[in-house]
Amino acid sequence: MEFDLIARHFTRATPGAVLGVGDDCALLAPTPGMQLAVSSDMLLEGHHFSPQDSPAGLGHKSLAVNLSDLAAMGATPRWTTLAIALPEENDAWLTAFARGFFRMADQHGIELVGGDTTRGALTLSITVIGEVPPGQALRRDGAQAGDDVWVSGVIGSAALALAYRQGRLSMGQIDAAKVLPALYLPTPRVELGIALRGIATSAIDISDGLLGDLGHILERSHVGATIEFAALPTLPVVQNYLHEAIARDCVLAGGDDYELCFTAPVDRRDAVAAAAQSAGVTVTRIGRISAETGLTVVDADGQPLPFEHTGYDHFAA
Ligand code: ADP
Ligand code: MG
Repeated sequence: MEFDLIARHFTRATPGAVLGVGDDCALLAPTPGMQLAVSSDMLLEGHHFSPQDSPAGLGHKSLAVNLSDLAAMGATPRWTTLAIALPEENDAWLTAFARGFFRMADQHGIELVGGDTTRGALTLSITVIGEVPPGQALRRDGAQAGDDVWVSGVIGSAALALAYRQGRLSMGQIDAAKVLPALYLPTPRVELGIALRGIATSAIDISDGLLGDLGHILERSHVGATIEFAALPTLPVVQNYLHEAIARDCVLAGGDDYELCFTAPVDRRDAVAAAAQSAGVTVTRIGRISAETGLTVVDADGQPLPFEHTGYDHFAA
């Protein structure tokens, strides 16, 4: 039964692998001279998604959040594995899940080459493998004093959508419809990450919130930063809620955006703009790296804004 399930739902041609699904291991031949970038992410029902969520959306998101890690490293996606625990063999669910998963995979040229399938509480564990030229990975430890801080796309939408879904923020249905896709169908910035090789001095994907994730860059790079709240890019609809503290918190520290936050030298602004244009993504300058450690958020008048949360803590009570 399990072999049948794997054959039906998860076995596809893998021209980019020597050997794909079906043996004890996949066989992969890296492009000569490239380094491999490897990352895993787990999604647990009740923590990262709820039982009512659409299976196709879950297929999309589970791979998208993993691709986002490759994007943040500037790596080209190549191969992925999928370990899945399922409470029951539900063919309709698996068909929809696989549709969402493979659509995302095809968009980014990544091939499913193996995995594991077992019975249990719905759990998804995905590993992605990408390639990056030696010395060109976008690491967290390269930010330099004086660098610009940039962010791609818009931020805060996914956290706002989650706050709405959990009843912590009231929104009109029309407004909610504008932010919900960010939560359920995030777009990994793979092309941007690749285009920023040799330009960005550091990068991270915003999975746990801007301040928390930028904080990781600052810590690893031994620098600080000042961020201008008014410069943070959001959807127009989000602006209508910024008088509420919870909405400001969503923009500054809300998770699940999967945009890239990165740093680059001031004299590379044109190169950053060209990279963003080639990737078809907007990028916005939101602040500056300083030699003094610490993270400050300032308002339009340059006055420090107090903030409480610095991101999603998976182990918080
Ligand atoms: P083994 O007992 O050797 O671990 P499995 O029965 O777990 O083998 O898996 C058989 C083959 O199917 C292997 O190639 C494995 O990588 C692949 N596989 C299992 N589950 C999945 C899945 N969910 N997605 C993709 N490939 C899978
Ligand atoms: Mg196995």
